[in-house]
Amino acid sequence: MVILLKPDDIETTAKDFLSQYASYMDSVGIVGKGPTGHAIYPSRTAPVEEQHVQFFEEWVDLTNALGIKNVIAMDLYTDGWFARDPKYQTITPEGDAMKHQICPNRPSFWQYGAEIIKEMGTYPIEEIILFGTGFIRDRFCFCDRCRKEFAPIVGQEPERLTYPYITENPEYHAKWHEWRQAKVNEGIRYLRDAALESDRDTGRELPLKLAVEVLLDPETGFSEGAKTEYGYDYAKINEITGDILINLYPWSPLLPLKGSAEYDTLVESLYFTNEFSRRGGRASLFRWGVTTIDQMQELKTLASDAGIDRVVISPHYPADYSHRRESAIGNF
Ligand SMILES: [Zn+2]
Repeated sequence: MVILLKPDDIETTAKDFLSQYASYMDSVGIVGKGPTGHAIYPSRTAPVEEQHVQFFEEWVDLTNALGIKNVIAMDLYTDGWFARDPKYQTITPEGDAMKHQICPNRPSFWQYGAEIIKEMGTYPIEEIILFGTGFIRDRFCFCDRCRKEFAPIVGQEPERLTYPYITENPEYHAKWHEWRQAKVNEGIRYLRDAALESDRDTGRELPLKLAVEVLLDPETGFSEGAKTEYGYDYAKINEITGDILINLYPWSPLLPLKGSAEYDTLVESLYFTNEFSRRGGRASLFRWGVTTIDQMQELKTLASDAGIDRVVISPHYPADYSHRRESAIGNF
């Protein structure tokens, strides 16, 4: 089990915290760039939360000295600082801009993400977890760039492209899914290349791992629904980074109870990870807001029922959680 922490979750100094808990930990995670878009390490690319820099440097040095594997989390398209720029915001079919999330179809933003990966890669870390790697829902994205690129694929004028036009024709809808998955993959590939570059630059012993968060919720049709809603192509992601982190029930406060029909559906919907591991990939289960031993146990049981051997938890919810939840499942 890996616990993903923010400096605010830890009330003491990095040194005090680690001297108390280090012997229980094999690996531990820290949020390097969260949904506010600010980095806690001295980045030359992203804005920096200066008050946490010392903590970060102490943390990385000490964990490394103690032989604890370091995991760093990074929010990708869920970047509130970058999303202030209207040129990057993802847009609803009605033309409403999301001020907390970037359109995944932005090569210049991939470049920004790649710079951050390379910066993080200069530290002695084992893995970067990428959060916010997909589209908000099936109805995204209707920004000018996405309209312009996708409309000709379905024989429409960019400004006349509507969501019903796409969904009412199964062939168009399938093309929409394919096109969006290709965009998500392209972004991930870009970041993977940055990780490879970091391996070469630093001469690190083991390649820097890149775990890609995928959302899985009953609200969005478990794993099958997630492919079309958020734009994940699991098989391709496995080819690209070989590492996924399944964010379970991100929009629900509770997991189904073992023994219930929904629990069985959930376990079944996780079977795709067996194929994933057979092909040399790794899948982990993740959940926000885990603060009790019972919740941890529940997640471990589920992981073992689904044949998954790694669990990552975060005691906190992301800072933009209410916006994220509202934009994903709220009423439009
Ligand atoms: Zn777009």
